[in-house]
Amino acid sequence: MYEPRSRRRLHPLFVLVMLTIAVLYGFRQGYVPLRYLPIPALDLNAADSWFLDLRLAALKRDRTLCATAVQSPVIDASAVADMPVDNGCGWTNAVQMTNAGGARVSVDKMTCDTAAAFAMWMEHEVQPLAKEHLGSSVKSIQHMGVYACRNIQGSKAFTAFRSQHARANAIDVAAFVLGDGRTVSVVKHWHGDSAEAKFLHAIHQRSCRYFRVALGPEYNAAHHNHFHFDRGAFRRCT
Ligand SMILES: [Zn+2]
Repeated sequence: MYEPRSRRRLHPLFVLVMLTIAVLYGFRQGYVPLRYLPIPALDLNAADSWFLDLRLAALKRDRTLCATAVQSPVIDASAVADMPVDNGCGWTNAVQMTNAGGARVSVDKMTCDTAAAFAMWMEHEVQPLAKEHLGSSVKSIQHMGVYACRNIQGSKAFTAFRSQHARANAIDVAAFVLGDGRTVSVVKHWHGDSAEAKFLHAIHQRSCRYFRVALGPEYNAAHHNHFHFDRGAFRRCT
């Protein structure tokens, strides 16, 4: 005889856990406007901001908040028009950046939260550590690109997925030009015991507070000559 299967009910605890995860993901990815969060807007001048990651995330989709927070002298940046995402490539709420933490940098588009993270890292970590280890400040930054409509490279498990570069949400930093004329590069100075190596290791380690993903030469061969920084959904610091 046919007996209908009893309908399974979701356990209330499971529903609660899933809802909590969804809400936290919403905060983390900037889907929840800052006015619904009990935290103040980000001040790029403040090195020791509490809930820094959430306050950076709040800039991601809020153009007005971005324009208010992203101000000189920590950063020189201006808004650029959106490029609607097509086939996994494009950008939203991006800025053009010419100066970060007192150093020249040429970026034609980068998501607001990643640009703010980059400027804070330059201002509060890179510049003080350059003075400490190298006796000079950083005058300009050489990078290998921000936006690129491509998949992840160098790691077999992820090559089917779009890179954060495809959303202008990442930067590959290759070298730092100092005020005294020296150039410190990841490819030349990462290994060894020199002051330059100590500087590079220190700034890489301190970058994890600002970026969600910070990869360098220790991660894989594809990163032997640059640091990759992004503010995607994952977290990894290697
Ligand atoms: Zn990269």
